[in-house]
Amino acid sequence: MTRPTAPRTLVTGPWLLGGPTGTPPPPCDPDATLPAAVLFDRDGTLVTDVPYNGDPEKVALMPTAREAVAAVRAAGIPTGVVTNQSGVARGLLTHRQVMAVRRRVEELLGPFAVWAVCPHGPADGCGCRKPAPGLVLAACRRLGVPAHRTVVIGDIGTDMDAARAAGARGVLVPTSLTRPEEIAAADATAYDLLGAVRLLLPPALRRSVARTREEAR
Ligand SMILES: [Mg+2]
Ligand SMILES: [Zn+2]
Repeated sequence: MTRPTAPRTLVTGPWLLGGPTGTPPPPCDPDATLPAAVLFDRDGTLVTDVPYNGDPEKVALMPTAREAVAAVRAAGIPTGVVTNQSGVARGLLTHRQVMAVRRRVEELLGPFAVWAVCPHGPADGCGCRKPAPGLVLAACRRLGVPAHRTVVIGDIGTDMDAARAAGARGVLVPTSLTRPEEIAAADATAYDLLGAVRLLLPPALRRSVARTREEAR
């Protein structure tokens, strides 16, 4: 008699790093005019998309990433990263390499309040791999913020679909790899990350971000 074989990959949910466990952040925005959190995609959004990158030396920031993340934090909004890393499931990336890239991103951009990483492949049927909502929802839970007041900024339709499925708001920052139909389907688009962040801020804060951009030139 043969036993059923165990599945090759045990799907146990995303890797969740950082963040206050179960402790909501202090209420910095009683009028709820600001997002409760901004979650960034990693590859092609915060840093250039190097397929299955496990090398911290290959981490390079996308245009205005530094200013955009700084502007979100200056507004008192917690930041997070939501990233599919199917290279893990494919055997092309180790946990250690994903953590090394994370450290390098944080050296360049400062610490994010939460990282939610999907290490699964498309065939694993997990609930976290974008366009599923699991990464966004897990990050929101970790931060103690409601998904409907959270914004996801990403470079492809998959990021926007994950945001929508989670009940969050999506802002697309297209690259040369973003397909026209993904741009057409997005609820909001911006030319660069700083432009995306400006969409989220009230006018007074927007003006201070505009000055930052001039200084950055
Ligand atoms: Mg991306
Ligand atoms: Zn997953």
